[in-house]
Amino acid sequence: MSHYPIFADLNRRAVLLAGAGQVAERKAESLLHAGAALRVVAAELNPRFQGWLQQGRIEWLGKDFQTAFLNDVFLVVAATDDEALNRRIFQAAEKQGKLCNTVDNQALCSFIVPAVIDRSPIQIAVSSGGASPVLARLWRQKIETLIPAYTGKMAALAGAWRTRVKAGIKGLSNRRRFWEQLFASRFDTLVAQGNEAAAEAEFARQLAGYRPQQGEVVLVGAGPGDAGLLTLHALQAMQAADVVLYDALVSDEILALVRKDADKISVGKRAGAHHVQQEETNRLLLHYAQQGKRVVRLKGGDPFVFGRGGEEAQALAAAEVPFRIVPGITAALGATAYAGIPLTHRDYAQTALFITGHCRPDGDGLQWQTLARGKQTLVIYMGTVKAGEIAAQLMAHGRAADTPVAVVSNGTLAKQSVQIGRLADLAAMAERAPRPALMIIGEVVALRDELRWFSEGLIETAVKAA
Ligand code: SAH
Repeated sequence: MSHYPIFADLNRRAVLLAGAGQVAERKAESLLHAGAALRVVAAELNPRFQGWLQQGRIEWLGKDFQTAFLNDVFLVVAATDDEALNRRIFQAAEKQGKLCNTVDNQALCSFIVPAVIDRSPIQIAVSSGGASPVLARLWRQKIETLIPAYTGKMAALAGAWRTRVKAGIKGLSNRRRFWEQLFASRFDTLVAQGNEAAAEAEFARQLAGYRPQQGEVVLVGAGPGDAGLLTLHALQAMQAADVVLYDALVSDEILALVRKDADKISVGKRAGAHHVQQEETNRLLLHYAQQGKRVVRLKGGDPFVFGRGGEEAQALAAAEVPFRIVPGITAALGATAYAGIPLTHRDYAQTALFITGHCRPDGDGLQWQTLARGKQTLVIYMGTVKAGEIAAQLMAHGRAADTPVAVVSNGTLAKQSVQIGRLADLAAMAERAPRPALMIIGEVVALRDELRWFSEGLIETAVKAA
């Protein structure tokens, strides 16, 4: 972040403005509008400034700048047409630790003034950090058209009721939910229509009838990595969440879309401690939901595909905590699409099987006979460690050693990389693949040559058959 945004309360605070020409006039207007006690130093005052002086709205300190003028002011604005003087003022302000804005000279600014969309008390400030004020202004215009004029009225009404809401509804997240529901209700329509009395009556009715809501858990599939693959439901749940429990596979780009004030808790798995960690995750889900919070359990890919989402949902069902499932694009769909490998194709594969290379130690073994059949695509999750064993079993059960295989690492992310080879090479390919990696076995892999479209980091290694 290039600048730290703040909204300063200038009401009755002293601000020193150097200059009283046209540029200074615009600065003076907004400073006076914010209630600042304006002290002006300038060789002469233009008519507008003279008017303000007569009305007692500004103080004129004379024509020569003196360092002592800085002593008890809150902010400084240098807006004279004398560059050397502006520089001198800025340097003096720096020395005293006073924030100074110098017009049209970013190097001489310790604060900058954003373009503002004013729906007081709601204000939206747009800044390009000084890089392109024109672009910031363009955005301001676009945002202007999005925010209805009555938004300010609505915020003012809400402000007037705030203490009563605080007294009537216990708990921060309960209050937040009350406000969210209020602003999305008939109250909004009534304020928009300018019917303030009816709006207040509606407000009172909703406040009196408020019942705290039960918490809930949303198991959200975050997809394989590219944030553009999130569903609308996923995004809405992430934006509404009080608490988000996410695992290691969820990309930073996606985490950045979670509501800023939500508690974000990593429940990333580490090899070896899966069991304990899963129980702890289940416990946390119940714990927060039972406090009435909106909990999002954010999982890589799809929650119900090799993601233990089923187990988490079982724990929630057993504890009678309400839950929802938001499906996500599973790695087998995302990584293959971005690698240009169709899972099925009339000429090459009528079946696609998703399997995990990481089975429960006490579970049934894989049906190698079935898996080794031709004209089908195998997609193997969590299989890189056992790639040699898997390839050997498939070949022993009849799959040809030269069956095309792909290993897709970091699928759908900018750093995606893909290795193409033959079944006999799978172990070697898996070993050097960055994680997470997905293995795809089957004739469809050959189509990548023709269908590849996503530009990868060009780390690709084509492994030739021995
Ligand atoms: N629920 C997830 C899978 C979790 S298991 C889903 O539906 O996708 C974790 C395995 O998924 C990893 O070991 C890897 O095999 C695969 N995987 C997840 N994201 C991936 C990605 N972006 N690229 C390649 N493989 C991925």
